[in-house]
Amino acid sequence: MREPLYNQRFDDIYFSPEDGLAETRHVFLDGNDLPQAWRGKDHFTIVETGFGTGLNFLAAVKAFEATATDGQTLDFISFEKYPLDKDTIREGLQSWHDDIGEPLERMLAQYPLRVAGFHRIIYSAQIRLTLIFDDVNEAMPRLSIPRGVDAWFLDGFAPSKNPDMWSEALFSGIDRLSGPHSSIATFTAAGFVKRAIADIGFEVTKVRGFGRKREMITARREQAFDAVKVSQVKSVAIIGGGLAGTSCAYALKQYGIEPVIFEAGATLASGASGNMAGLYNPRFTAQRQSESDYYASAFAMAYRQMTLLQASQDIGFAPIGAMHLVNSPEKEKRYSALWENWGWHEDHLRIVNVDEASDIAGVPLEYSALFLPDSGAVSPAKLCEAYAQNIEVVLNASVIPERHGDGWRVHGRDFDAAVLTCGAGVVNMDGLEWLPVHTVRGQITKCTLTGAGFNTALCYGGYAAPLGDGEMICGSTFQKWRDDTDIAPEDDQDNIEKICAVVPSFKDSLEVVDHRAGLRVATQDHWPLIGSVPDYASWQSGDDKDHEGLYISAGHGSHGILSSLMGGFVIADILSGAPLSIGKDSAASVNPARFLERLRKKNQL
Ligand SMILES: Cc1cc2nc3c(=O)[nH]c(=O)nc-3n(C[C@H](O)[C@H](O)[C@H](O)COP(=O)(O)OP(=O)(O)OC[C@H]3O[C@@H](n4cnc5c(N)ncnc54)[C@H](O)[C@@H]3O)c2cc1C
Repeated sequence: MREPLYNQRFDDIYFSPEDGLAETRHVFLDGNDLPQAWRGKDHFTIVETGFGTGLNFLAAVKAFEATATDGQTLDFISFEKYPLDKDTIREGLQSWHDDIGEPLERMLAQYPLRVAGFHRIIYSAQIRLTLIFDDVNEAMPRLSIPRGVDAWFLDGFAPSKNPDMWSEALFSGIDRLSGPHSSIATFTAAGFVKRAIADIGFEVTKVRGFGRKREMITARREQAFDAVKVSQVKSVAIIGGGLAGTSCAYALKQYGIEPVIFEAGATLASGASGNMAGLYNPRFTAQRQSESDYYASAFAMAYRQMTLLQASQDIGFAPIGAMHLVNSPEKEKRYSALWENWGWHEDHLRIVNVDEASDIAGVPLEYSALFLPDSGAVSPAKLCEAYAQNIEVVLNASVIPERHGDGWRVHGRDFDAAVLTCGAGVVNMDGLEWLPVHTVRGQITKCTLTGAGFNTALCYGGYAAPLGDGEMICGSTFQKWRDDTDIAPEDDQDNIEKICAVVPSFKDSLEVVDHRAGLRVATQDHWPLIGSVPDYASWQSGDDKDHEGLYISAGHGSHGILSSLMGGFVIADILSGAPLSIGKDSAASVNPARFLERLRKKNQL
């Protein structure tokens, strides 16, 4: 007989190795009247407490795939404070390999890095999984589910072993998020759980539990629900074919929405995104906060998506690790606070001393470092091409969307919505003059390196990364005062001097072979602009309306590889009425309207 998967922290097993899958089906599927309950519904949303091995998700996937009709979608959202690693999950579910082996491997292929926060996984064209690696009590208030929750799977360890989870915050979250016809199923029959569910208006029934368990709870509630109105968006014009535009198109396509990209240049990535290589790293803040969570989710998502894309075409994805050198007292304070506060598993983020940093990087270094083993380099130009695969692209089309009927007209064609992803094109755009955005010119330098190379990306204010074949990239300069993209030889010199100051052995070993200059777009508070475009006049009059159907993903600064992809998914969420891929506080912190709110506070609107 197999040993049950045991959790020491809660002194409890996850499920019985003999009949865990049958128990899941009895408690959570039958208990929520599934698959019957999703019949005839275009969208169905399940929220679960305690993802564990994903057994409940896999059982739901099997049932959904067997019964769903074309176009029906399932959102499965699950909280897990202590995520298991892939091997433990695989081992734990070994007993049911014949039944759920295929969906299990499919799920594990996209299982997120163990990084605290929200993780949106596109499991299939019809099923999205959102894993939230966090305490349910802290994360539940951050959920935004416009259509409401249809079914709750209250799993997790028993109330006697894990009393913290079965809290008032959990039940008030259920109250807030439940849709018009919502159901709950849970394995427990604890009296206080029954009372708490009844207190939020659910009709509770005690039914037969599984196997030797005498009772469990199911509950139903019919209640008016203020669903956010989601118009059926089918066609979207994307204005600009850089990272922001192509990643937005990529996300929309995965949500079944047809985008068309309009690009002013003769090729995709003709703006800042045309660099041959760049690093993908989050923005580092000492505290874990809404904004840093945006980048943490983006980091894990980009890692998953780039792994998938690289498997079918070369995007120059090289997760070689990034060594962020602690080369100032300020960084020492910030990085060590971050390491404590961000809640990343040590497999993905740790502080290494000088010797270990040198050892891993393969060059003598003078500083300790914050090491991200999953970080690395990618070619933004190739990434844009990969995102835009199978998407209509109109080149040499410098366009401005015009309001037309209920939608937007672009290049003589009508669309339900338009997304401004035109990089520096948003600076002083008509109607957007109020946006506090500016350009920052920069240049990267590609060199050949003779002599011993190095293994990981190095970040020290500037950055350098090995590209293979004796080549490396180093960058990049920052010039707020210039807005041209002419190549400046002194910028190459600057980039080379900076890396040689960190790795003196590179002196006289570097020869410039290529370079590229571009314009980043930065906002006043350094966070990007993602969401609906506010109508300035309406805000002035106090109505606070947006330009209906007009969205923006811009201001990605020096972190566009990560922030543009997350921005694309957030816009796809909004356009399709899907649960937000990130916390609603994170979405608010990148929403362009934040700048109007600040103006209003200062009486300057
Ligand atoms: C030197 C340098 C180094 C960098 N290094 C890194 C790095 O290592 N890691 C990282 O994450 N980020 C890095 N960045 C930042 C990153 O490149 C940007 O954040 C990102 O490319 C921005 O993408 P975008 O799509 O918003 O803008 P862009 O790439 O500029 O795309 C905007 C596109 O819109 C088009 N356009 C403009 N107006 C119109 C119009 N009216 N109609 C149609 N099309 C229009 C433009 O032609 C352009 O192709 C770097 C930037 C620079 C300049």
